[in-house]
Amino acid sequence: MLKKINYLLISLSFVIQINLHAELHGNPGEVFPILVKPSKAYKNLTVKIDGSEYELVALPFSKQGQYIKIGDKNIYITEKDFGESRITIQDSSKVTLSDKDVQRTYKESQLIKKAISTSSTQFKSNFKFLKPVDGLISSRYGKKRYINGLPRSPHLALDIAAPEGTKIISPGFGKVILIGDFFYSGNYVVIDHGYGLITSYSHLSKVVVKEGQLIDKGQKIGDVGSTGRVTGPHLHWTVYLNQIKINPEIMIDENYLDRIL
Ligand SMILES: [Zn+2]
Repeated sequence: MLKKINYLLISLSFVIQINLHAELHGNPGEVFPILVKPSKAYKNLTVKIDGSEYELVALPFSKQGQYIKIGDKNIYITEKDFGESRITIQDSSKVTLSDKDVQRTYKESQLIKKAISTSSTQFKSNFKFLKPVDGLISSRYGKKRYINGLPRSPHLALDIAAPEGTKIISPGFGKVILIGDFFYSGNYVVIDHGYGLITSYSHLSKVVVKEGQLIDKGQKIGDVGSTGRVTGPHLHWTVYLNQIKINPEIMIDENYLDRIL
């Protein structure tokens, strides 16, 4: 009898394991590749690998532990512990905003929303980006954030620390679609890389590109600075795919696509 139960338990755990592996899943802030028919005109970002074409679908950070439906597929977004970061901002007017600053930040967030809502289909990125600044990663994507002890929205960008004046380059071909001097972001640049892939750069000390300008992969866009709400000079780099903030580190990891395909 005991032998039989044992056998049952072993087969049951085997079935559960098989199901776990069969389930389509991905990490929050990463992309899920969907095999598509080659040479068709897609409005979303696709990559070609070994003659096969894949559409890359962004997996939102906010949907951890949930399924998202893509076509006829259900994709499970795993739960992941990204750690936390606690920062202190000395200037309290940058933490508890005046009515005027509330209005200003709202207007600026609307400008950003509008900028990232459309993307060109005239050019396409290959999903392999250059690191925009030569520096140390000081805060990763997904960290829970506490500012002066109070919980804030998670850090859905990558911080690269480098001395003031270090050059920032465009990680891929694109078009500058927005430049501004914003409350949180300081001197700020947004670049459209086509097919829903958009990047933004915050806290610059100097911007050397103009709105509407086409820029090459590796071309300088400005210098690292500490404008806006910061604790020190760094680049706050955000990557959007179809308006979803994804983990910038997957774009500068040469083996990322090979790992998920
Ligand atoms: Zn940041």
